[in-house]
Amino acid sequence: MVPTKYRVEIAVDPTKDRFSGITTIAVNVNEATDHVVLHARDLTVTLASVTVNGKRIVAETRMRRAHGAKDADEELVLLLGEWLRPGTAEIAISYDAPFGSLWGLFKVQDAGKSFAFTQLESTFARRMFPSFDEPRFKTPFDIALEVPTNMTAFANTNLANEGAGRLKPGTKRFEFETSKPIPTYLVAIAVGELEQAKGPEGTTPIRLLAAPGRSKLGTDGMEAARRSLASLESYFGIPYPFGKLDLAAVPNFAVGAMENAGLVTFREELLLTGSTSPAQLRRRMALVMAHELAHQWFGNLVTMRWWDDIWLNEGFATWMQAKVCDDAFEAFGARAERVLSKDIAMRYDVHPSARAVRPKVERADDIGQVGGWSAYQKGASILSMLETWTGEEAFRTAIRSYVAAQADKSITSTELFAALDQTTKKPVSQVARTFLDQPGVPLVSVSVTCDAKSKKPTSATIEAAALGGPSGATWKVPVCIRVEGESATRCVLLDKERASIPLSSCPAWIHPNAGEAGYYRYDLDEGSWQKLVKSFASLDEAERAGLILDAWALVLAGRRGAEHVVELLRSIDFSKEKSRVVIEAAISVLTEIDRTLVEPATQEAFGKLARRVLEPAKKRLGMPSAKKTEPADDALLRVSVLAALHDLARDPEVARSLEATASKYIADPDGAAALSGP
Ligand SMILES: [Zn+2]
Repeated sequence: MVPTKYRVEIAVDPTKDRFSGITTIAVNVNEATDHVVLHARDLTVTLASVTVNGKRIVAETRMRRAHGAKDADEELVLLLGEWLRPGTAEIAISYDAPFGSLWGLFKVQDAGKSFAFTQLESTFARRMFPSFDEPRFKTPFDIALEVPTNMTAFANTNLANEGAGRLKPGTKRFEFETSKPIPTYLVAIAVGELEQAKGPEGTTPIRLLAAPGRSKLGTDGMEAARRSLASLESYFGIPYPFGKLDLAAVPNFAVGAMENAGLVTFREELLLTGSTSPAQLRRRMALVMAHELAHQWFGNLVTMRWWDDIWLNEGFATWMQAKVCDDAFEAFGARAERVLSKDIAMRYDVHPSARAVRPKVERADDIGQVGGWSAYQKGASILSMLETWTGEEAFRTAIRSYVAAQADKSITSTELFAALDQTTKKPVSQVARTFLDQPGVPLVSVSVTCDAKSKKPTSATIEAAALGGPSGATWKVPVCIRVEGESATRCVLLDKERASIPLSSCPAWIHPNAGEAGYYRYDLDEGSWQKLVKSFASLDEAERAGLILDAWALVLAGRRGAEHVVELLRSIDFSKEKSRVVIEAAISVLTEIDRTLVEPATQEAFGKLARRVLEPAKKRLGMPSAKKTEPADDALLRVSVLAALHDLARDPEVARSLEATASKYIADPDGAAALSGP
């Protein structure tokens, strides 16, 4: 049985404890059956019927456990007492249910007012209305809401009609336009005395919904939305698919934000930033906005067929958010930061408890277990690697034609990669599989054979090993190296233990992970390592950060001694280092060293090392001034550097000046500059 359309009518009064509704589902009956199984949880069904050819069959109902579930009954069985033949039918169910607590249809109290919002991913739609609650089913939705007359209601689409309540007399009824086909987890509503603000002019009408008095804080958010939409439309070559865009600031929300089609919900403090908000918050808002809006194409227009591919949904949006922010905002530097999130993903990925990012999801209770932050970051890192390996243009062309061809459908990542194989003419599927279906990180060791005197042809030998992952794990690794003096990178698909790249001469240095695009750690023979360290300043920002991070990863893996990374940090000239990402990488490694290696006897030497790394940046950045504006990167870096000097170098001077700044700020929040500046 396959649903083809829903009509969801709900009477919602957020001042009450329960809501009630009627859900009508048009279905195709594929095989003769005498019962119907839907998802429902905590719904009290008052009447259920199935209508075929004008004949209404009232059903008996009972609840049962889903396959493999321990938690609660989530399946609603309608027993018909007679057989339905293949064809079309209409299911109608009247019910009432309690509001959820931050999940499903939930209510929020704020400043004496009551609101209702939704959070239906992954499997909470079934707590709001009976449904075939799986992402492979995408259908149009007609939504009607009946709410107290002092409130307004919003849903995924524009309002079509307003009138008097039919389910609940004395209420106001809001009927919304039929939606495009969407899965149940993307349905959203918002109810309450919500304030609306209109966004900047553009092809898509943008509105902000917030608790009374707060919508004026939404200007930044709406502008970020406008810029993100423009960037995404140009990347995909497809206009924003859902007509209007509402951004709802939810006063109390369990997740950061949720990409519901046409009605994106945000934790209030994440969305409502202004010109005086700290740089970190404004940056985070822009990234989250880009992420949720990227989902409108990837996730909403094209949906994963099943929850085992949630990594693709989230990995793609995470990968895309960096692209969009770099495109939409000047000097944002989100792509350069990827090396830091990839590092964290790789640190988790070598743990014995690490799981594949594309796990098998077979039982109902597994659905809530998939994903997690590092899986999203690994997913994004794998997409970055594939993009660099296949070429940015070829990758985009493949994504574009795929999204266009699969619009309004649900797909699997296997199908996406098969399409990428075809368009890019590279074995993308095979490579992706080795990274997605097992945890662990490849270690790529490069040694250079070089005979400078005889001018004999030289070569770089590349060998693969495993850090973490199942025993005997192997990968197909696209290894791209950068050779001093050559403008193009050299890529080889390392699909066996060893490969060789011929070199035309004896290079001053080679870098084994060009642009840090590859999801692997690297090591070099000692001579080549020393040459690379000496040429630190010739590397790009991500490569410099990656050099520090990989050096530490080798120490953690027991492949190098601690002196490997300590000597590296001693030899880098940090007075010339202006990149926030590189200094953040050094701070992250210093923090790890402090946590794992430093003892009372070595504290002083470690403090000296930390100061050597951090003092130049502290000197350059100085303390913030309320009068002059500075690049956001400087403001962000100052916070990290001062915190690290305080925590790692135990610098008493930093502690004193932080206290002074803090008390000035507390005494006069508007007059004093916050540490991170505006
Ligand atoms: Zn997401």
